[in-house]
Amino acid sequence: MIQVLEQRRAQIHRKGETATPLRCDRRSVAGSVTQRACAFCGSRVVLYPIADALHLVHGPIGCAAYNWDIRGALSSGPQLHRNSFSTDLQEMEVIYGGERKLKQALEELIDRYRPKAAFVYSTCIVGVIGDDVEAVCRQVARAKGIDVIPVASEGFRGTKKTGYQAACEAAFKLVGTGDTTGIGACSVNILGDFNIAGESWIIRRYFEEAGMEVVATITGDGRVDDLRRCHGARLNLVQCSGSMTHLAKLLETAHGIPMRRVSFFGLEDTAAALYEAANFFNDSAVLERTRDLVGREVGRVYPALKKYREALAGKRAALYVGGAFKAFSLVKALKLLGMTTVLAGTQTGSPEDYELLREICDDGTVIVDDSNPVELAKFILELDVDLFIGGVKERPIAYKLGVGFCDHNHERKIPLAGFEGMLHFAREVHATVLSPVWQFVPRRSRRSSASTPSREIISPSKNPAAVEERKGLA
Ligand code: SF4
Repeated sequence: MIQVLEQRRAQIHRKGETATPLRCDRRSVAGSVTQRACAFCGSRVVLYPIADALHLVHGPIGCAAYNWDIRGALSSGPQLHRNSFSTDLQEMEVIYGGERKLKQALEELIDRYRPKAAFVYSTCIVGVIGDDVEAVCRQVARAKGIDVIPVASEGFRGTKKTGYQAACEAAFKLVGTGDTTGIGACSVNILGDFNIAGESWIIRRYFEEAGMEVVATITGDGRVDDLRRCHGARLNLVQCSGSMTHLAKLLETAHGIPMRRVSFFGLEDTAAALYEAANFFNDSAVLERTRDLVGREVGRVYPALKKYREALAGKRAALYVGGAFKAFSLVKALKLLGMTTVLAGTQTGSPEDYELLREICDDGTVIVDDSNPVELAKFILELDVDLFIGGVKERPIAYKLGVGFCDHNHERKIPLAGFEGMLHFAREVHATVLSPVWQFVPRRSRRSSASTPSREIISPSKNPAAVEERKGLA
């Protein structure tokens, strides 16, 4: 029996059983080893795919190593983003300040790589010692004639979401500085797709085929010049709402560009996203082409999906992802495959997100906000799942418990977006859930549920046996 911290109780909801709304959108509870990353990491992952910019991490080497090229954000051109430049602050800089080292590093890197712009990320220690990063950036920008943009991403500033916001503000400094001549009336920006395994290319192809121009994908396969002119687009489509809503709101306020929340995961949501844009432009030719595209693509993948559905019917899935938009799409995609989502959670969901998640989940589904590995293990065991969907931090939990795992985070190498992405997803789920390897792996969940599948939430201090069990899983 694994316990849940008493203070986390309000962040766990069982549909049909818990009356109160889920508590969310707040700092992590002390003692709960959250799956969230720090604010710096949030900024870094959002800006990382801008491939022709210099990304310099101002801090100790560990911060830069922590997220060096861990994401599969592909570029069709420059690869500068894949380097991990750091000022490698050491004891002397911590005592006397790191501004001189930052200036030197920036000048050297700009001379050597000739980037289109530079982003400078502040880490925890920079916030503590009080380096004036903005002043150094201004100085180097003047001397070198390029934009050098500070990112206020000190790790302790807040949650990963704070980092997303800092990244949006940094990116927005470039917006509006480019020429928008030639941008057509049916034009969109796609925000919150990071071109993992080439997904932005798939989505861009759909829009172009339907007769809609994609001005900028922000930030997948990103370019500084695209950001400069993205204020010329007529509509912003926001996929990863947790990370990009702030930028979309800045664009709406400053340039009057409306935004729509969309998702390109799953057949239903991909079709809905394309129709959302086509209906917005109210152009009969665009609508016609969108209908043709959706009809053709669904017709192409649906027969194969039906076969997977027959094999997967009745299987149980758990999912824990960063943002809520992905959780919604996954619940629907799993339903299409005949599977039931018994656990759904996110790191950064808002009250509205969880309300929507509650609506689309079945009764009994456990919904969690800002969970931790021990809790996730508890529910995976109790709910006897066949598949766990998550990212790099969830993978070891599944492996330790002997449960099939599907990577739906930024480290994956297979595109899961769009119509063809749904087919890849089905193939992967099928291969994982029905792998012959499971006949050789004892199911901890079954053994556990045979003993005491407790749903009680109590303080660990009241149950020493549970503490021991938790230690064993950690
Ligand atoms: S910014 Fe702070 S919390 Fe984030 S990796 Fe660096 S030291 Fe750790």
